[in-house]
Amino acid sequence: MKEQFAVDVLICGAGAAGLMLAIDLARRGISFRLIEKAAQPFHGSRGKGIQPRTQEIFEDIGILDRIVAAGGVYPPERLYHNDGSYSDADVMERGKPTSAEPYHLPLMVPQFLTERVMRERLMELGQIPEFSCELVDFVQDADGVTAQLAGKGGEETLRVRWLVGADGGRSLVRHSLGIGFPGKTLGVRALVVDAVITGLSRDYWHRFNDGDMTRQISLCPLAGTHLFQIQGPVPLEGDIELTAEALTTLVAQRTGRDDIQVQSLSWTSLYTMNARLADHYRMDRVFLVGDAAHIHPPTGGQGLNTSVQDAYNLGWKLAAVIQGAPEALLDSYEQERRPVAASMLGLATRLLEAQKHGNMRRGREVHQLDIGYPESTLSQEQPERLDGLSAGDRAPDALIRGAAGHPSRLFNLYKGPHWTLLGYGLDRDAVPSRAGLHIHTFGPHGDVIDEQGHFYEAYEPAMGDWILVRPDGYVGAIVTHENLHALERYLLQVGLGVPGVFNG
Ligand SMILES: Cc1cc2nc3c(=O)[nH]c(=O)nc-3n(C[C@H](O)[C@H](O)[C@H](O)COP(=O)(O)OP(=O)(O)OC[C@H]3O[C@@H](n4cnc5c(N)ncnc54)[C@H](O)[C@@H]3O)c2cc1C
Repeated sequence: MKEQFAVDVLICGAGAAGLMLAIDLARRGISFRLIEKAAQPFHGSRGKGIQPRTQEIFEDIGILDRIVAAGGVYPPERLYHNDGSYSDADVMERGKPTSAEPYHLPLMVPQFLTERVMRERLMELGQIPEFSCELVDFVQDADGVTAQLAGKGGEETLRVRWLVGADGGRSLVRHSLGIGFPGKTLGVRALVVDAVITGLSRDYWHRFNDGDMTRQISLCPLAGTHLFQIQGPVPLEGDIELTAEALTTLVAQRTGRDDIQVQSLSWTSLYTMNARLADHYRMDRVFLVGDAAHIHPPTGGQGLNTSVQDAYNLGWKLAAVIQGAPEALLDSYEQERRPVAASMLGLATRLLEAQKHGNMRRGREVHQLDIGYPESTLSQEQPERLDGLSAGDRAPDALIRGAAGHPSRLFNLYKGPHWTLLGYGLDRDAVPSRAGLHIHTFGPHGDVIDEQGHFYEAYEPAMGDWILVRPDGYVGAIVTHENLHALERYLLQVGLGVPGVFNG
């Protein structure tokens, strides 16, 4: 008899990574429980930078406009010099949106507001996180995972098919699996505090003593709130008093100004910076996502973004396997995401070094638009392409027109949990329709029109190319019409195949 499970997936931790995974599974109709040991939602600002690639993901799950409305853009920096003068500069390189990359500005949204919007979206999909519910232990076998939970109602044993540890840097799931978390402590301890402050304009991110790790302090107005985020390095050892009075004194010591008053605090944190990466992201029926798998210094604003994107990568694969796709699909999660985190660790650590010397600039590399999976087993070309877009690249947006005449975008076609197949100069009937795959064609009888050539510019297709776009917005396969059999094999591999029905 087939074993019955309470739910398919247990997600441990309702931070940004756990919420992202929950939203993705909910919109795919997968049963899960999302548990969170804290009694209430996290209320700090810490991961406040939402990068352009994450904005695209938030558009896909239907929350981008709400996220923008909840926060705002970064203000210019005001750098104060030792002689009391100051100069203003942009923290970020501000490119212009293009047809291929509609979002160019990192947004500033305090983490508690981002998570609030995500919880609202989850609730729209009929689910909520269970607060005050802690994973205390688990064991796994060939068929599933038996988890021990401790909640308001006492202890509970839960049997699930899969467990996902989205439980942050100190992850119980990672520890229980005995997965190594090598890396280093970066020799910097810092405070981060959300506070009501008087005496400073809210139009600038104020930075004093940049490059001096003993006196540096920054005060950033938090978009969407009346708060400032205070950040600064502190000595590696010893107690640091985190009260409004003590912080007013610290600010005065580091800025030389007595007109800046810290009135009240809404969240405080003292942390030692680390750069660590889990040896594995999966052990059989258990996965790690987000900070449970990697921790970075906050320089460059990468942590929350990388965490959300881990969950976005895992969500569709886990759902596909639960719905019958070959389990090997899940191997691609670690294969794709671990190298991304390894390179983020390098980037954030380099930016931290630059900050120590007062010359940190955040350029395109922090936007995460160039992340791709060219080495993945899920990236296939038939024949191999020598120019232009490759399998594994982020699938660019493009302004197009629908056959009915309305202006549209490729991202409108991609939006949702499905795969998308684009044919260039091809007859759509060449590929039979199937559940979970949307087919669109450009050409004489196509349903979409590349009126301004934006699609051609971004994808560089040849006549007769099929381009398959994954549910998470990466190019899965590019095949010529003569190689449709390769596309069929690919679709089988990801659980979308209807064998033997190709007539192309
Ligand atoms: C000071 C600071 C500044 C930062 N700035 C940025 C930034 O500008 N941009 C950026 O992208 N990132 C930033 N980050 C990083 C960002 O905050 C994290 O990467 C992000 O929170 C990771 O999300 P997560 O969901 O993986 O983990 P978390 O947010 O840590 O969530 C894990 C959740 O799991 C819960 N949990 C733990 N154990 C259990 C258990 N046994 N049972 C049930 N629940 C459990 C925890 O209570 C927690 O709510 C910053 C971090 C810090 C500390």
